[in-house]
Amino acid sequence: MGKRLEGKTIVVTGASSGIGRSTAMEFARTSPKNLKLILTARRIDTLKEIAKEIEKEVGSGVQVLPVKLDVSNPSEVRGFVDSLPVGFKEIDILVNNAGLVKGTAKAPDISDDDINVMFSTNVTGLINMTQAILPIYKKREDGGRGDIINIGSIAGREPYPGGSIYCATKAAIRSFTDAMRRELIATRIRVMEVDPGQVETEFSVVRFYGDKTKADAVYAGCEPLTPDDIAEVVVFNAARRENVVVADTLIFPNHQV
Ligand code: NDP
Repeated sequence: MGKRLEGKTIVVTGASSGIGRSTAMEFARTSPKNLKLILTARRIDTLKEIAKEIEKEVGSGVQVLPVKLDVSNPSEVRGFVDSLPVGFKEIDILVNNAGLVKGTAKAPDISDDDINVMFSTNVTGLINMTQAILPIYKKREDGGRGDIINIGSIAGREPYPGGSIYCATKAAIRSFTDAMRRELIATRIRVMEVDPGQVETEFSVVRFYGDKTKADAVYAGCEPLTPDDIAEVVVFNAARRENVVVADTLIFPNHQV
Protein backbone atom coordinates (compact mmCIF):
# COMPACT_ATOMS: atom_id res chain seq x y z
CA MET A 1 0.00 0.00 0.00
CA GLY A 2 2.82 2.35 0.91
CA LYS A 3 4.36 1.96 -2.57
CA ARG A 4 1.45 3.81 -4.19
CA LEU A 5 2.05 6.77 -1.89
CA GLU A 6 5.78 6.93 -2.48
CA GLY A 7 6.96 10.32 -3.72
CA LYS A 8 3.64 12.02 -2.97
CA THR A 9 3.20 15.52 -1.59
CA ILE A 10 0.29 15.64 0.83
CA VAL A 11 -1.49 18.56 2.50
CA VAL A 12 -3.48 17.93 5.67
CA THR A 13 -5.57 20.79 7.08
CA GLY A 14 -6.33 20.86 10.78
CA ALA A 15 -3.23 18.77 11.41
CA SER A 16 -2.56 20.19 14.88
CA SER A 17 -4.82 17.70 16.67
CA GLY A 18 -7.23 14.79 16.48
CA ILE A 19 -7.97 13.24 13.11
CA GLY A 20 -5.65 15.56 11.15
CA ARG A 21 -2.68 14.83 13.37
CA SER A 22 -3.31 11.06 13.20
CA THR A 23 -3.78 11.21 9.43
CA ALA A 24 -0.42 12.90 8.98
CA MET A 25 1.23 10.30 11.20
CA GLU A 26 -0.50 7.42 9.36
CA PHE A 27 0.65 8.65 5.93
CA ALA A 28 4.20 8.84 7.28
CA ARG A 29 4.06 5.37 8.82
CA THR A 30 2.54 3.83 5.68
CA SER A 31 5.00 5.36 3.26
CA PRO A 32 8.10 6.33 5.22
CA LYS A 33 10.23 6.75 2.09
CA ASN A 34 10.23 9.82 -0.09
CA LEU A 35 7.05 11.46 1.22
CA LYS A 36 6.38 15.17 1.68
CA LEU A 37 3.85 16.20 4.27
CA ILE A 38 2.53 19.75 4.55
CA LEU A 39 0.81 20.16 7.90
CA THR A 40 -1.46 23.17 8.28
CA ALA A 41 -3.50 24.69 11.12
CA ARG A 42 -3.53 27.92 13.13
CA ARG A 43 -1.42 26.57 16.04
CA ILE A 44 1.98 26.62 14.42
CA ASP A 45 3.92 25.65 17.58
CA THR A 46 1.85 22.47 17.89
CA LEU A 47 2.45 21.68 14.22
CA LYS A 48 6.19 22.06 14.74
CA GLU A 49 6.04 19.59 17.65
CA ILE A 50 4.09 17.12 15.51
CA ALA A 51 6.61 17.51 12.70
CA LYS A 52 9.37 16.55 15.14
CA GLU A 53 7.35 13.56 16.40
CA ILE A 54 6.84 12.30 12.85
CA GLU A 55 10.50 12.71 11.94
CA LYS A 56 11.51 10.96 15.17
CA GLU A 57 9.19 8.02 14.49
CA VAL A 58 9.79 7.44 10.77
CA GLY A 59 13.14 9.08 10.09
CA SER A 60 14.29 11.43 7.39
CA GLY A 61 12.48 9.70 4.50
CA VAL A 62 9.51 11.93 5.25
CA GLN A 63 9.96 15.67 4.89
CA VAL A 64 7.49 17.61 7.02
CA LEU A 65 6.58 21.24 6.44
CA PRO A 66 4.46 22.89 9.17
CA VAL A 67 2.54 25.95 7.92
CA LYS A 68 0.35 28.35 9.90
CA LEU A 69 -2.90 28.65 7.98
CA ASP A 70 -6.44 29.72 8.71
CA VAL A 71 -8.54 27.97 6.06
CA SER A 72 -11.39 30.43 6.48
CA ASN A 73 -9.22 33.27 5.17
CA PRO A 74 -9.22 33.08 1.32
CA SER A 75 -6.24 35.36 0.76
CA GLU A 76 -4.20 33.45 3.35
CA VAL A 77 -5.08 30.22 1.55
CA ARG A 78 -4.03 31.62 -1.86
CA GLY A 79 -0.83 32.98 -0.33
CA PHE A 80 -0.13 29.56 1.18
CA VAL A 81 -0.16 27.85 -2.21
CA ASP A 82 1.85 30.62 -3.90
CA SER A 83 4.56 30.62 -1.24
CA LEU A 84 5.16 26.88 -0.94
CA PRO A 85 8.89 26.20 -1.16
CA VAL A 86 10.36 24.47 -4.21
CA GLY A 87 9.93 20.74 -3.73
CA PHE A 88 6.56 21.09 -1.98
CA LYS A 89 4.62 22.79 -4.80
CA GLU A 90 3.48 19.66 -6.65
CA ILE A 91 0.68 18.64 -4.31
CA ASP A 92 -0.83 15.18 -4.98
CA ILE A 93 -3.27 14.73 -2.10
CA LEU A 94 -5.33 17.27 -0.16
CA VAL A 95 -7.05 16.14 3.03
CA ASN A 96 -9.66 18.77 3.89
CA ASN A 97 -10.01 17.98 7.57
CA ALA A 98 -10.07 21.34 9.45
CA GLY A 99 -13.42 21.79 11.10
CA LEU A 100 -15.20 22.58 14.32
CA VAL A 101 -18.49 22.64 16.14
CA LYS A 102 -19.71 25.36 18.52
CA GLY A 103 -22.33 24.78 21.15
CA THR A 104 -25.52 22.76 21.36
CA ALA A 105 -28.09 25.58 21.11
CA LYS A 106 -31.32 24.95 19.24
CA ALA A 107 -31.67 26.74 15.89
CA PRO A 108 -33.39 29.98 17.01
CA ASP A 109 -30.80 30.61 19.74
CA ILE A 110 -27.53 30.08 17.90
CA SER A 111 -25.35 33.18 17.92
CA ASP A 112 -24.27 34.88 14.69
CA ASP A 113 -20.64 34.33 15.66
CA ASP A 114 -21.11 30.58 16.04
CA ILE A 115 -23.01 30.33 12.75
CA ASN A 116 -20.29 32.28 10.95
CA VAL A 117 -17.35 30.40 12.41
CA MET A 118 -18.86 26.99 11.63
CA PHE A 119 -19.74 27.87 8.02
CA SER A 120 -16.56 29.82 7.30
CA THR A 121 -14.35 27.00 8.61
CA ASN A 122 -16.20 23.81 7.70
CA VAL A 123 -17.66 24.88 4.35
CA THR A 124 -15.96 27.99 2.98
CA GLY A 125 -12.59 26.87 4.38
CA LEU A 126 -12.85 23.54 2.58
CA ILE A 127 -13.89 25.30 -0.64
CA ASN A 128 -11.04 27.82 -0.30
CA MET A 129 -8.49 25.02 -0.04
CA THR A 130 -10.02 23.08 -2.91
CA GLN A 131 -10.10 26.10 -5.24
CA ALA A 132 -6.51 26.97 -4.38
CA ILE A 133 -5.12 23.49 -5.01
CA LEU A 134 -7.25 22.30 -7.93
CA PRO A 135 -5.30 24.33 -10.56
CA ILE A 136 -2.18 22.35 -9.59
CA TYR A 137 -4.05 19.13 -10.33
CA LYS A 138 -5.69 20.42 -13.52
CA LYS A 139 -2.50 21.46 -15.25
CA ARG A 140 -1.26 17.85 -15.19
CA GLU A 141 -1.51 15.55 -18.21
CA ASP A 142 -4.81 14.08 -19.48
CA GLY A 143 -7.06 16.69 -17.90
CA GLY A 144 -5.59 16.45 -14.46
CA ARG A 145 -4.52 14.21 -11.60
CA GLY A 146 -4.67 14.40 -7.79
CA ASP A 147 -6.79 13.49 -4.78
CA ILE A 148 -9.13 15.51 -2.61
CA ILE A 149 -10.36 13.77 0.54
CA ASN A 150 -13.00 15.71 2.44
CA ILE A 151 -13.78 14.92 6.06
CA GLY A 152 -17.53 15.20 6.48
CA SER A 153 -19.49 13.64 9.31
CA ILE A 154 -22.32 11.30 10.10
CA ALA A 155 -23.97 14.60 11.15
CA GLY A 156 -24.30 15.50 7.46
CA ARG A 157 -26.52 12.46 6.96
CA GLU A 158 -28.32 12.23 10.32
CA PRO A 159 -28.99 15.70 11.71
CA TYR A 160 -29.64 15.87 15.45
CA PRO A 161 -31.36 18.41 17.75
CA GLY A 162 -28.92 21.03 18.95
CA GLY A 163 -26.68 20.48 15.95
CA SER A 164 -28.60 22.22 13.19
CA ILE A 165 -25.81 24.48 11.94
CA TYR A 166 -23.00 21.95 12.32
CA CYS A 167 -25.13 19.30 10.58
CA ALA A 168 -25.96 21.80 7.81
CA THR A 169 -22.25 22.49 7.27
CA LYS A 170 -21.54 18.79 6.94
CA ALA A 171 -24.50 18.27 4.59
CA ALA A 172 -23.10 21.13 2.50
CA ILE A 173 -19.74 19.35 2.31
CA ARG A 174 -21.55 16.26 1.08
CA SER A 175 -23.28 18.14 -1.75
CA PHE A 176 -20.12 20.02 -2.68
CA THR A 177 -18.10 16.79 -2.77
CA ASP A 178 -20.66 14.92 -4.89
CA ALA A 179 -21.00 17.79 -7.36
CA MET A 180 -17.23 18.15 -7.71
CA ARG A 181 -16.78 14.44 -8.32
CA ARG A 182 -19.27 14.70 -11.20
CA GLU A 183 -17.65 17.86 -12.56
CA LEU A 184 -14.29 16.10 -12.64
CA ILE A 185 -15.47 12.88 -14.20
CA ALA A 186 -13.13 11.49 -16.88
CA THR A 187 -10.12 13.15 -15.31
CA ARG A 188 -7.78 11.39 -12.90
CA ILE A 189 -8.74 13.78 -10.12
CA ARG A 190 -10.41 11.73 -7.40
CA VAL A 191 -12.84 13.41 -5.01
CA MET A 192 -13.64 11.37 -1.92
CA GLU A 193 -15.42 11.83 1.37
CA VAL A 194 -14.89 10.16 4.73
CA ASP A 195 -17.69 10.63 7.25
CA PRO A 196 -16.77 9.75 10.84
CA GLY A 197 -19.18 9.06 13.64
CA GLN A 198 -18.16 9.82 17.21
CA VAL A 199 -14.39 10.20 17.59
CA GLU A 200 -12.67 11.20 20.80
CA THR A 201 -10.64 14.35 20.04
CA GLU A 202 -10.41 17.99 21.17
CA PHE A 203 -13.50 18.49 19.02
CA SER A 204 -16.00 17.81 21.77
CA VAL A 205 -14.19 20.16 24.20
CA VAL A 206 -14.36 22.91 21.56
CA ARG A 207 -18.06 22.19 21.19
CA PHE A 208 -18.61 23.02 24.86
CA TYR A 209 -16.35 26.08 24.80
CA GLY A 210 -13.62 24.26 26.73
CA ASP A 211 -15.86 22.76 29.45
CA LYS A 212 -14.27 19.33 29.81
CA THR A 213 -16.88 18.02 32.26
CA LYS A 214 -19.62 18.58 29.71
CA ALA A 215 -17.42 17.17 26.99
CA ASP A 216 -16.73 13.99 29.00
CA ALA A 217 -20.47 13.55 29.48
CA VAL A 218 -20.83 13.23 25.67
CA TYR A 219 -18.85 10.01 25.78
CA ALA A 220 -20.30 8.62 29.03
CA GLY A 221 -21.08 4.93 28.53
CA CYS A 222 -19.81 4.94 24.93
CA GLU A 223 -16.62 3.79 23.34
CA PRO A 224 -15.89 6.36 20.63
CA LEU A 225 -13.55 5.79 17.73
CA THR A 226 -9.99 6.99 18.00
CA PRO A 227 -8.49 9.47 15.52
CA ASP A 228 -6.28 6.60 14.30
CA ASP A 229 -9.39 4.65 13.23
CA ILE A 230 -10.27 7.46 10.83
CA ALA A 231 -6.69 8.06 9.74
CA GLU A 232 -6.33 4.41 8.68
CA VAL A 233 -9.38 4.73 6.43
CA VAL A 234 -8.23 8.02 4.88
CA VAL A 235 -4.81 6.57 4.05
CA PHE A 236 -6.32 3.31 2.76
CA ASN A 237 -8.61 5.27 0.40
CA ALA A 238 -5.74 7.45 -0.83
CA ALA A 239 -3.60 4.41 -1.53
CA ARG A 240 -6.08 2.65 -3.86
CA ARG A 241 -5.11 2.02 -7.47
CA GLU A 242 -5.54 5.20 -9.53
CA ASN A 243 -8.69 3.91 -11.24
CA VAL A 244 -10.41 3.17 -7.92
CA VAL A 245 -12.41 5.91 -6.21
CA VAL A 246 -13.61 5.13 -2.70
CA ALA A 247 -16.14 7.90 -3.07
CA ASP A 248 -17.95 7.76 0.20
CA THR A 249 -17.05 6.13 3.49
CA LEU A 250 -19.16 6.17 6.66
CA ILE A 251 -17.36 4.94 9.75
CA PHE A 252 -18.80 4.94 13.25
CA PRO A 253 -18.39 3.07 16.54
CA ASN A 254 -20.55 0.05 17.19
CA HIS A 255 -22.65 1.70 19.89
CA GLN A 256 -23.67 4.48 17.50
CA VAL A 257 -25.60 2.26 15.07
P1 NDP B 1 -10.02 18.61 16.61
O1 NDP B 1 -10.68 19.74 17.33
O2 NDP B 1 -9.14 17.69 17.36
O3 NDP B 1 -9.24 19.15 15.33
C1 NDP B 1 -9.75 20.16 14.52
C2 NDP B 1 -8.61 20.73 13.71
O4 NDP B 1 -9.12 21.77 12.87
C3 NDP B 1 -7.53 21.35 14.57
O5 NDP B 1 -6.28 20.92 14.09
C4 NDP B 1 -7.70 22.84 14.36
O6 NDP B 1 -6.41 23.45 14.40
C5 NDP B 1 -8.25 22.88 12.95
N1 NDP B 1 -8.97 24.11 12.66
C6 NDP B 1 -10.08 24.60 13.22
N2 NDP B 1 -10.41 25.79 12.68
C7 NDP B 1 -9.46 26.04 11.73
C8 NDP B 1 -9.24 27.10 10.83
N3 NDP B 1 -10.03 28.18 10.76
N4 NDP B 1 -8.17 27.03 10.00
C9 NDP B 1 -7.35 25.97 10.04
N5 NDP B 1 -7.49 24.94 10.88
C10 NDP B 1 -8.55 24.98 11.71
O7 NDP B 1 -11.24 17.79 15.97
P2 NDP B 1 -11.31 16.47 15.09
O8 NDP B 1 -9.99 15.94 14.80
O9 NDP B 1 -12.32 15.60 15.74
O10 NDP B 1 -12.01 17.08 13.79
C11 NDP B 1 -11.45 16.96 12.50
C12 NDP B 1 -12.58 16.90 11.50
O11 NDP B 1 -13.37 15.74 11.76
C13 NDP B 1 -13.55 18.08 11.55
O12 NDP B 1 -13.88 18.47 10.23
C14 NDP B 1 -14.77 17.54 12.26
O13 NDP B 1 -15.95 18.20 11.89
C15 NDP B 1 -14.74 16.09 11.76
N6 NDP B 1 -15.48 15.15 12.57
C16 NDP B 1 -15.16 14.94 13.89
C17 NDP B 1 -15.92 14.04 14.64
C18 NDP B 1 -15.64 13.78 16.10
O14 NDP B 1 -16.48 13.14 16.77
N7 NDP B 1 -14.49 14.21 16.64
C19 NDP B 1 -17.03 13.30 14.05
C20 NDP B 1 -17.25 13.57 12.66
C21 NDP B 1 -16.50 14.47 11.96
P3 NDP B 1 -6.07 24.91 14.99
O15 NDP B 1 -6.98 25.14 16.16
O16 NDP B 1 -4.63 24.78 15.34
O17 NDP B 1 -6.31 25.81 13.84
